[in-house]
Amino acid sequence: MENVSTFVILTAPHARCTATSHSNHSCDFAALSAANELSKALDSVGIESIVLAGDINRETTDLNRAVARYTTDFRESLRMEVRLRSRKHEIIVLDVHSYPQSSKWGTYPIVFLYAGGRVPQWADSMGMAISNELRKPITILDNLGQINDIQDEMHSLGIRAILLEFNESNPRDVLLRITRSITQSLGRLASV
Ligand SMILES: [Zn+2]
Repeated sequence: MENVSTFVILTAPHARCTATSHSNHSCDFAALSAANELSKALDSVGIESIVLAGDINRETTDLNRAVARYTTDFRESLRMEVRLRSRKHEIIVLDVHSYPQSSKWGTYPIVFLYAGGRVPQWADSMGMAISNELRKPITILDNLGQINDIQDEMHSLGIRAILLEFNESNPRDVLLRITRSITQSLGRLASV
């Protein structure tokens, strides 16, 4: 296909918090704002995107698990967007999450989780771009199938997808530098 522009679907399946979320981290506190910042940054370089926020708390149903794939409006909306957008675009799904500073990933500003086998080149370059921009290591974990069902489903449909975990303690300027790096690497991807 020639001149097919990229369309980014940003999912935030764990965006819905409840009264107890502060004690048990049953939602990703920074995911929706990170997804919205990403969407804004993409818009500024002319890449279209949409943010899909989960509407069910993960204690009720984890929208990133296989059990939710055919039973929730959120996952149905994702498939609908994929069907709709793939007529004119090359789709990339960035599944956006966040973790507290106290987690085992606390030293990293961002962690990539890849559900397929080996991490593909485009995701690897994106990770490198962030790491270079922040002059800090990030980590990319691969072979995480079965527990990241959004990615698993997208991969089964031939759609590029990866999960991005943002550190909830990232200062705003770090978040913005991350979103800019991601945007730039997607821009390079779209132009090749
Ligand atoms: Zn999450």
